[in-house]
Amino acid sequence: MSDYVLEAQGLSKGFRGFMAVQGVDLNVENGSIHALIGPNGAGKTTCFNLLTKFLQPSAGRIAFEGQDITQLSPAGVARRGMVRSFQISAVFGHMTALENVRIALARARGGNFDFWRGERVLIRFNDRALALLDDVGLSDSAGVPAVALSYGRKRALEIATTLALEPRLMLLDEPTAGMTEADVGRIVALIRKIRAGRTILMVEHNLSVVSGLSDRITVLARGRVLAEGDYASVSANEAVVTAYLGT
Ligand code: ADP
Repeated sequence: MSDYVLEAQGLSKGFRGFMAVQGVDLNVENGSIHALIGPNGAGKTTCFNLLTKFLQPSAGRIAFEGQDITQLSPAGVARRGMVRSFQISAVFGHMTALENVRIALARARGGNFDFWRGERVLIRFNDRALALLDDVGLSDSAGVPAVALSYGRKRALEIATTLALEPRLMLLDEPTAGMTEADVGRIVALIRKIRAGRTILMVEHNLSVVSGLSDRITVLARGRVLAEGDYASVSANEAVVTAYLGT
């Protein structure tokens, strides 16, 4: 098998003639943490949406674990093991952290979840849900309604509901956006912990998070790949420095 869990070639997307993403090649190595960075408007979100099939590319192809997924739906991609952090996790505010993870587990195992007959089914997932909450550092919040959790803890709960799907490739969309410094530290530690046995692709603005976590970085600017490499090499790249200063 290829060393790359995700391979995109010539990925392009135009919006009424404006090319938001143009001819992007992206290879994500199995087991790595790979960051997608770039100044505002570079095409990072569009790229993420294309890779997870929330948007259909105008051109290009995408393969996950060697299988072409260019024509799949977001749900089809998720079923194969490539899951975006918020994909299933529209966290239910009035339900407790534990209930949220139990529902995510029930959905991961059995598709649609029937709320009316649910409680009996959900009990089955109690132990696994508690273990997942423990993994993300939320053991002490199991009985707390999601709405009452701090922002940082809500993001951790979101990660727990994503882990319920047992993704082999996890896509994190700005995992530390809007967080306090203390929460950023917790999420970084959490990402280090959950990387075991899986690959992570993330869009992240905080460059100290990127430098601390990423094995490989792809820099986008104006819809194209500007540079790729480890943090030392891309941060020393003149074109990258210019692109960042220019915004
Ligand atoms: P980033 O996430 O790097 O900030 P985006 O992928 O959000 O960049 O956007 C890239 C470019 O494409 C921007 O110029 C943005 O205005 C444009 N764009 C993104 N989505 C749409 C859309 N649905 N319609 C028109 N233009 C879009």
